[in-house]
Order: sequence, then structure tokens, then C-alpha cells
Amino acid sequence: MKKLFAVIGLGRFGGSLVEEFHHLGFEVLAVDVNEERVNRFSELATHAVVANAINENNLKELGLKNVDIAIVSFGGNIEASILATLLLKELGVKQVWVKALSENHQKVLEKIGADRVIHPEREMAKRIAHHVTSDKIVDFIELSKNHSIAEIISTKKVTDKTLNELNVRSKYGCTIIGIQRGEEFIVSPSIEEVICPNDILIVLGHNNEIHAFEEKGV
Ligand code: ADP
Repeated sequence: MKKLFAVIGLGRFGGSLVEEFHHLGFEVLAVDVNEERVNRFSELATHAVVANAINENNLKELGLKNVDIAIVSFGGNIEASILATLLLKELGVKQVWVKALSENHQKVLEKIGADRVIHPEREMAKRIAHHVTSDKIVDFIELSKNHSIAEIISTKKVTDKTLNELNVRSKYGCTIIGIQRGEEFIVSPSIEEVICPNDILIVLGHNNEIHAFEEKGV
């Protein structure tokens, strides 16, 4: 069965989430205390409802039992985001993901049981910083504090070589898990795969390994 999402707070972040879920063909319940915001998303969301997420009765009326992931996306009001998270957990929502604004906000959310804390501004800043400080890194996705997936553009140094010849895993520790070649995406390439000009290498590993490969290997 397809997943059902709830987005609570329809600001820039929450609103963009609703749009994406809609484009991906998922059911989404859009909730905001502000009626005008709710109306704006009524055509994209499966249900768009005016409710105050820090009011337990309001939340109960939403019938969130079937929701797989509720995403709390208020910006400024930290107190409201904490309270809404607590109430959603108490009501038994399977997964509660919350947008955090600061390190302290994040710590509190983790303590009270948020299943995932999202820090969109910080995450985007990291991705952009990696991109602009390296000519070769076109994207960078942090998986944990030390591990990431980087998209690295291939150079003359590696073109026409097979993955076996490059031997990236033994030399640097990281692994090429995919290759983007124009429109084509090669998942788990074989060791006989030959790198073509302009290939983008999708590399998974420890940040130090990825940087060593990016500096010396490609
Ligand atoms: P962003 O920074 O992503 O634009 P905002 O803080 O500007 O986020 O917007 C958050 C949205 O959350 C607003 O539309 C606001 O009306 C809504 N919101 C704030 N508090 C509550 C609440 N207690 N219940 C439901 N929606 C809320």
C-alpha cells in the first residue's frame, strides 16, 4: 500500500513538501492553523485541513492513525514544534519527522522522541559548500556525521579506464556505487565498466576517503 504523509505547517518548507508528494503521486494530508495557507494547498493535497497542531483535540480529529510519517515544519515557533511533536508521538503516529532551526532545538526534539530531525538550511548549506569549493564535486549528501555519498565528475585521469584498473576501494576505501552517463544511470557498475568522458561517479564512503579520492584519484 502507498504511504500516507501528513505535513503540518505549510510555510515555504512544508508547502514545498506537499508539492513534491503530490508530484510523486503520494497521498498527503496538509495541515495549517492558517486557513488561507490551507486553501492554497487544497488542490495539491489529498486533504487540506485547518487545525492547530498544539491542540490535542484538533489533532485527534485529524485521524492520524493511518499516517505513516508526519512532518512538523514550523519555522519560528520552537515551543509549538516541540509540543506538536510530543502530542503526535502520544497519539501514536508511526513516524514523526521535525524541522529544526538550531542545534538546541534539534537536541530537544531528539530527546522527546522525534524519529528524524531535519535541518534543511544547514543540510543545503553543506551541499552547496562542497559543490562550490570543489570543481569536481557536483553534489554531496551526508548520510551520517562521517559518511556521505558524493557525485564526482570524472576527469581525463580516469576516462577509458575500467573500475578494476582504478581500484578505488583498495586505494581509497570508498566505493563507486553508480555512474550517471547522460540520461543513463548505471547502478552497481561491474568492475569491467569503462569510464567515459563526463561520467558522474556516485561514490559512497567515509568523508576522508571520498576527499582523498577526489584529490588524488580523479
Ligand atoms: P518556513 O520557514 O518553512 O516558511 P514558517 O515558519 O514561515 O516556515 O511557516 C510555518 C507554517 O506553520 C505557517 O504557515 C504557520 O501558519 C504554520 N503553523 C505555525 N504554528 C502552527 C500550529 N500550531 N499548528 C498548525 N500550523 C502552524
